[in-house]
Formats: sequence, C-alpha cells, structure tokens
Amino acid sequence: MAETFNQTYQNIYGLDAPEQVRYGESGAEIIRPARGFVDSFDLTMQTQVGCPAGCLFCYVPSGHMLTPPAMRGEFGENWGFEVRRKRDVVERFTEHLERGELADKVIYWSGVTDPYATGAGETSALWELLNAASGRLRPKRLIVQTRFRPDRDADLMAAYTRATRSADGGPAVVVSYSLGTDREDLIRAWERATPGYRQRMTAIETLRRAGVFVVPTLSPFGLWDDLKGTLRHFRLWGIPYITCLFFKKETDSANTPRRFQTYLEREYPMLLDPNWQRDQTRSLRAIYGASRVLFGKQAFASLAAPHYV
Ligand code: SF4
Repeated sequence: MAETFNQTYQNIYGLDAPEQVRYGESGAEIIRPARGFVDSFDLTMQTQVGCPAGCLFCYVPSGHMLTPPAMRGEFGENWGFEVRRKRDVVERFTEHLERGELADKVIYWSGVTDPYATGAGETSALWELLNAASGRLRPKRLIVQTRFRPDRDADLMAAYTRATRSADGGPAVVVSYSLGTDREDLIRAWERATPGYRQRMTAIETLRRAGVFVVPTLSPFGLWDDLKGTLRHFRLWGIPYITCLFFKKETDSANTPRRFQTYLEREYPMLLDPNWQRDQTRSLRAIYGASRVLFGKQAFASLAAPHYV
C-alpha cells in the first residue's frame, strides 16, 4: 500500500502540503499559437493558469517557460495549490470563434492545466458555442488532454463530432485520456485531486459509447495490478490505439522532474529502469499489437491526426 498524498509531498519537499488551493484571477489570453513541444498543433487553449490537480510528477512546474514562478514555487512545491482562473473565458472564446481565428485549426486543449479541472458550466458553454457555430468557423480538430471527467460533456462532444466534417477526414474531437496505473493507492499517493481509476475507466467508456474518439495515454506509466484487464476493456470499447510515456531520467527530452525522480529512485526504482520499461513495452505490444502502441514524441504528434495511425 502506497503512502498518502501528504506523506509523498512531505517525502519530496520536506514540508507539509498546503491545506488548500488558493484561487485568484488572471487576464491572460486563453488561446495562443502552438510552439515548442506542442508544435504539431496550430493553437493551444488554457482557461486557467496553474492546475488544481496537484500531480507530484507533473512536468509543468519544472519547465520555466510553462508557468509563472508564483504557480510553481522555487522547487515546484506550490504546484497544484495556486490557480488563477482566466476572466471572461466564454466571451473571449466567442470572439475568437466569430472572428474566424479558430477555423480549420487543430487546437490542443491543453497540456499545462487540465481542461476538465474547471467548473462544468465553463466547458459545456464552450461545447455549446462550438455546436452552434457554422461549419466554416469550426476548428478542424480539438484535442482534449485530461485525467478528469470529460464525460460530463460526452453528449455535446458527440454531437459536435457527428456534425463536423474535418478537411482531412479525421475526427473533430479527440480525447487524449491520461491513466498511468490501475492502483488507486498510487493515484492517491501521487495526484492530489484527480478521479480514481474506476472513475477514469467510466469516463473513457462513456465517451466511447457516445462515439467520441479516445486515445488512452498510459502516462506516466506506473505499476499495474491488471494491465491486461484494462487493455481488454479498451479493445472492447473499440479504441484503435494507445500511447505510453514512461518516467524518464537523463534522456534528451521531458525528463521526470528531478525531485520526483529522486523519490522514485528511493521508493519505486523499477519505474525508471530501462530494462523494466523494455519488458513493459514488450507486454503492451504483445497484448495490443505492435503498431497500436505509440511512445514518446511519435505518440504525442499522432494526436493531431489520430486517424492516420
Ligand atoms: S492534471 Fe495534468 S497538468 Fe494538472 S497537475 Fe496533473 S499532470 Fe499536471
């Protein structure tokens, strides 16, 4: 049985975790051109600064360009406890949409804050606007990156998918759904406020049954009690392929944050071990099919046009 979130936080930062999340407001823009590691998309969208999920392995606070210092603290200790909600999200989205700035664009929503760690009214309002928009104003594709409950908008996403014809023939909506383990104790030890395994599986199943394109992302890849069982469900729900991201150290891209690496080296060294990771890769491919499991940059880039995989 893994430790509690507070114990892991204490283990990593040598401090007690803050008792609550401090919320503020931000006037920052919600849509920006996609640059750097997200450049396979045209635009990125974030409706808040900071992420209340508080995942201790999150790479965002260690990327100095990804979030302001107040959101992360000196060592990442503030991450998950400082959030600024962007003002007038729905009004600003309406303006972008009506000016034609989103037309035929591939939008990544979002990667530096979970889009579904926000109020239900906000996300449903955005989908309603999209559903009401004329075909010529619609984005080519929206890629929702989440480990929360996007299934609350499953019907709206499905309606949008059905009514939108993307120029490249691919799905208008893709949910890239993060799930790194089926062990509830590990989720609770590493992620302060996200849904547990069963809830995430319900989210994926609901989206699939509604007809939404889902790419489960086994990230960051942890220890599993029954990996085969989870993959069997994915197959049953008609999921064409999955992606996987291992914890990384001393590689040339997006390494696991240093303090979390040190914690893993002490508590779960196999998760960083290239030999163990190779064995997991073999099992994943044996179960799901060699061409249906993507890793690293190829996996991430695939989300822009997942129907070509
Ligand atoms: S939900 Fe995603 S963005 Fe938010 S803290 Fe967790 S990993 Fe980071």
